[in-house]
Amino acid sequence: DEREDGEAVVAAVEAVAERIEAERDHLTDLDSAIGDADHGGNMARGWAKAADAARDLEDPNPETVAKTVGKTLMSEVGGASGPLFGGSLVFAGAELADGVTAETAVAFAETYLEKVEDRGDARIGDGTMVDALTPAVHTFKKSVEVDDLDPLEALAKAVDAAERGVAFTVPIRARKGRASYLGWRSVGHQDPGATSTLFLLEEVLEVAADR
Ligand code: ADP
Ligand code: MG
Ligand code: MG
Repeated sequence: DEREDGEAVVAAVEAVAERIEAERDHLTDLDSAIGDADHGGNMARGWAKAADAARDLEDPNPETVAKTVGKTLMSEVGGASGPLFGGSLVFAGAELADGVTAETAVAFAETYLEKVEDRGDARIGDGTMVDALTPAVHTFKKSVEVDDLDPLEALAKAVDAAERGVAFTVPIRARKGRASYLGWRSVGHQDPGATSTLFLLEEVLEVAADR
């Protein structure tokens, strides 16, 4: 039911917060190569606060959890990535008003990607989180709607796609965000935001698989 779905979403947020904390230095190292070395700290602080806020909700249905986490990320993460992760989550959260099903999960994923694209004006190949997100969302949608896979299998495929997307950020030149200031010198570096996006998806898959 809705309450159980909401609690599952809170569990996913907690898992993400833990993973991001564990990867803090890794994300900081990636950002120090092509940015300003704050992505690990930004994300760890934001997700820790988001997990607290999600845990404190009296009625944790999927929509309110997503919106609460999004708002917290917007105010706590800062930088370029705060409004991208947070603002998109606030918008996409509305797609979960009727709970989490294969259908609403696809709508959520598509709206989230659209909002990231709108706000950041980046597309696939620009060397940002969009490079992990785009193949993940398209693969998830196709797996559910065309291949008729169950949501968990579809999510596993989406995570694989995101992983290839992260790898794709290494050889390309960044065209959006701080890394783009480096021009061709951004070539050879893995994008921090694409990497944290992958970690996020991996944790959602893990929590979904455990249920
Ligand atoms: P900042 O660059 O402001 O210090 P962070 O270090 O927290 O913010 O986040 C950097 C990440 O944000 C990048 O690795 C990239 O994935 C993502 N990013 C930056 N600008 C954009 C954009 N315009 N569109 C999409 N993603 C972006
Ligand atoms: Mg940074
Ligand atoms: Mg910064």
